[in-house]
Amino acid sequence: MRLSASAGQKLTAAEVSSTFSQQIVADFQPNTPLAEGMPGYIYREEQVRLAEEIADAFDGGQVLLAEAETGTGKTLAYLIPALRSAEKVLISTHTKALQDQLMHRDIPAVQKAMGLKRRIALLKGRSNYLCPHRLKSAVTNHQVEMWAKKSLLKVQQWANDNSEGDLSALPFDVFEKGIGPMVTATADQCGGSKCDEWNRCPLMNARQRAQDADIVISNHALLLADAALKSGDFGEILPAFDSYVLDEAHSLPDLACQHFGIQLSRLKLIQWLNDMQAALDGLRDESALKKEIIEAGRIALDAWPNSDIKVVEAAWQPLVELSASRSGRSEDMAKLAERADMIRQDMAAVEKPYDGFVAWSEGDGEHKRHIVAPVETGPVLNEHLWERPASFVLLSATLRSSGSFEYAKSRLGFSDDIVESFHPSPFNYKQQALTYLPRHLIDTRSERGQEALLDEIETLVRASRGRAFVLFTSYSMLNRIAPELEERVPWNVLIQGKSGNRDAILAQFREDTSSILCGTRSFWEGVDVPGESLSLVIIDKMPFAPPNDPLLQARIKVCEEKGGNGFRDIQLPEAIAVLRQGVGRLIRNNEDRGVMAILDSRLYQKFYGREVVKNLPPAPIRDDLAEVRWFFEEHEG
Ligand code: SF4
Repeated sequence: MRLSASAGQKLTAAEVSSTFSQQIVADFQPNTPLAEGMPGYIYREEQVRLAEEIADAFDGGQVLLAEAETGTGKTLAYLIPALRSAEKVLISTHTKALQDQLMHRDIPAVQKAMGLKRRIALLKGRSNYLCPHRLKSAVTNHQVEMWAKKSLLKVQQWANDNSEGDLSALPFDVFEKGIGPMVTATADQCGGSKCDEWNRCPLMNARQRAQDADIVISNHALLLADAALKSGDFGEILPAFDSYVLDEAHSLPDLACQHFGIQLSRLKLIQWLNDMQAALDGLRDESALKKEIIEAGRIALDAWPNSDIKVVEAAWQPLVELSASRSGRSEDMAKLAERADMIRQDMAAVEKPYDGFVAWSEGDGEHKRHIVAPVETGPVLNEHLWERPASFVLLSATLRSSGSFEYAKSRLGFSDDIVESFHPSPFNYKQQALTYLPRHLIDTRSERGQEALLDEIETLVRASRGRAFVLFTSYSMLNRIAPELEERVPWNVLIQGKSGNRDAILAQFREDTSSILCGTRSFWEGVDVPGESLSLVIIDKMPFAPPNDPLLQARIKVCEEKGGNGFRDIQLPEAIAVLRQGVGRLIRNNEDRGVMAILDSRLYQKFYGREVVKNLPPAPIRDDLAEVRWFFEEHEG
């Protein structure tokens, strides 16, 4: 491992000539540039141990799977080795919030403190960048309606002064305005190096900056989408890296299901038809073909809601042939012919999935979607990522189940030749928190059970005087309970799907310190609200995946064919991981105090209850509501 040439000058010669991991350990010691220059820095034993392991993984080209519980300080533990390394490093996260925090707060602060000057680039997914080629054709297309034209012209004007083309800098959201698909390009719409706007393409410029950077900050969705693409100059975005740091790694398997599978919607057909019509308008002498395309397209779209995919595929076939007949006329037409055939191939895969994949449909009518996903994510991740000649560091606060990495390893596709490590939270859960597990609640599938659940939630949020997250396992329970809770309590109740988008709800929750947030899965993880605003986390029941989920059923079948037990080996560890994420929202620093309430009496009645409880943070467990009241009285005087 070479050390960065721009390492801080305050280090002694002995330190610089030491091994990489010794160097990293030295960086964290008191009286160093980091300790003295980094605001709020405190020495943490577990953080240094983790940083040392990461440095060793970089050095030895290893795979490190590390669970670092909340409060370990894992971000700094990987930033120092990444910034000290002379190699090219990708740091990938699941959430945008963490990417922004790394790019705009953490990395500048560490570089400043340590006198480092590594080149950093942020690379987002394609839909975040303006596509000048598509903008130009939309603006000149006479078929585009007036309302859309107005917004398109605003984007065009903005683009004149914003060569970076990052759409988040626009004062409005192009997707909310309904023009997103007209100003961005998906991988199959992008012409790559054959595109006439290649030289001034913001996406290609961002990609070039990533090529030139020492460290690239990106996200799992882009990494997986990139890995899933067959090579081609219009597809791949990310360059090659020597080391990959994948934070929030617990989310990789579910994301891999999406990115290594197929998602086919009617909208995809409509987008192709719109693009085809725009391309034919551009050719000016293909009005007869355009008419044929519109007619054939109408038949395929009409078949979508009620027919078997085989019927839709048969209706789509003429469009494949018509577009192929003109593929020689222009680059755009060649690309459209290729896309039409890819859509046909996707339809064939829905009808007959490849080995190891499962297909199913969701939604009804025009909103019906066909999905194909790998039953096991391990083999695809292995083939597309882990086989690369690089080191990989995978981190999360929740990778183990009942103290073992086995479940995470099987989903990620690792065997025993990797390094595993665990770093416990430094928080004093015995002092800082209480777990409330009531015994008396009845099955919430009955009306009486739901009433009892609502009463229990109301009593709890009155004890905490609001300041609560109420995390539901289903939309139906959210919609049943949250509006009634809103009627009953004097605090502001923010409801997912009603009170704004996720970011807006979180912003309101942080601002109104006595508010209550009611949400489903998207609030169980990646949400950080330290301080008094969040003093109570309520979970309505054990987050088992719905048993009728086709992907889960296929996974259980494969597991049991291999001699495993679907509940023990899949459903339980999965639910435990989600539960750990949910309760992990509560204590975010040494000053936080609060109660985790899991309103599922099955934890006393069912054989798995003891196993679940073993995985909870080590706070005292109580089943009496009076103890919850006392906790808040004691801690808040
Ligand atoms: S290269 Fe792709 S993203 Fe860039 S302008 Fe061309 S089509 Fe759009």
